[in-house]
Amino acid sequence: MRIVLLGAPGSGKGTQSQRLMQREHIPQISTGDLLRAAVASGSELGRKARQAMEGGRLVADALVLGMIRERLREADARRGFILDGFPRNLAQAQALEALLKTLRQPLDAVVQLEVDYAELVRRISGRRTCADCGRVFNVSTSGAELIGSEPCHSSGAPHRLVQRPDDNEATVAERLRVYEEKTRPLIDFYRTRGLLRVIHAEGSVEEVTERLEQALHAVPRATVAARRAAPTRKRRAPTAKRAAKAGSGGKRSGPRRTSRRGSARRGR
Ligand code: ADP
Repeated sequence: MRIVLLGAPGSGKGTQSQRLMQREHIPQISTGDLLRAAVASGSELGRKARQAMEGGRLVADALVLGMIRERLREADARRGFILDGFPRNLAQAQALEALLKTLRQPLDAVVQLEVDYAELVRRISGRRTCADCGRVFNVSTSGAELIGSEPCHSSGAPHRLVQRPDDNEATVAERLRVYEEKTRPLIDFYRTRGLLRVIHAEGSVEEVTERLEQALHAVPRATVAARRAAPTRKRRAPTAKRAAKAGSGGKRSGPRRTSRRGSARRGR
């Protein structure tokens, strides 16, 4: 299964990717994690990426695309992958489409995680990561009890929690603005390709995983098989009439300032 998780910072892409990775036995490919590792290692890529990351802006496409090209060619990605935090603008989405066409590995689905704006801000400001095992907790929610109740599987000692440098208030506002401007257009990009699923991503982590699984299994197996068998075949772009009939109707999705309840639904 080859999927993209779309969603604003704090929408839970990382948490859900990790759970999905364990269930589906396919790697999570997070450009944010890859870039943070590059920064920590002091590589040339890391030095170039650092300033943009600290300011909450996007790292240059050429750097991110080079990194993704390499990662998708690794052996473990042949069985499938979960892309988390990539693509983040139209140029990246187009480059990914071309790359996957060359690799004959088209996407099966793109899932958009919808979360209310105020909830995003709350989640990001409470987010902490264990410096030893990399596990993500939220000190403002149930994660708080978990942190003290079990030792870190990597060090055996209590988790050593750190806050990401870009999780401060000013940078968070900029990251949400960049999401609105650059990443939101991808919702329509993938809707017109018939790949988009939208899920309500508030509630417990388990509830969201359940909705995610439902959304993924709403992809008809026959469609997946047909896409795999004929990856280069052109898909008909949905007309406005067909899209309306299928219920996608150009609805706004992403960080919203009002809350809306709903479960997994097809976005085409
Ligand atoms: P979040 O989704 O919470 O913002 P990420 O870990 O995905 O966090 O990304 C952290 C930072 O890394 C981003 O703010 C950006 O600077 C950089 N980054 C991650 N993915 C990309 C990408 N696909 N293109 C450009 N920059 C990226």
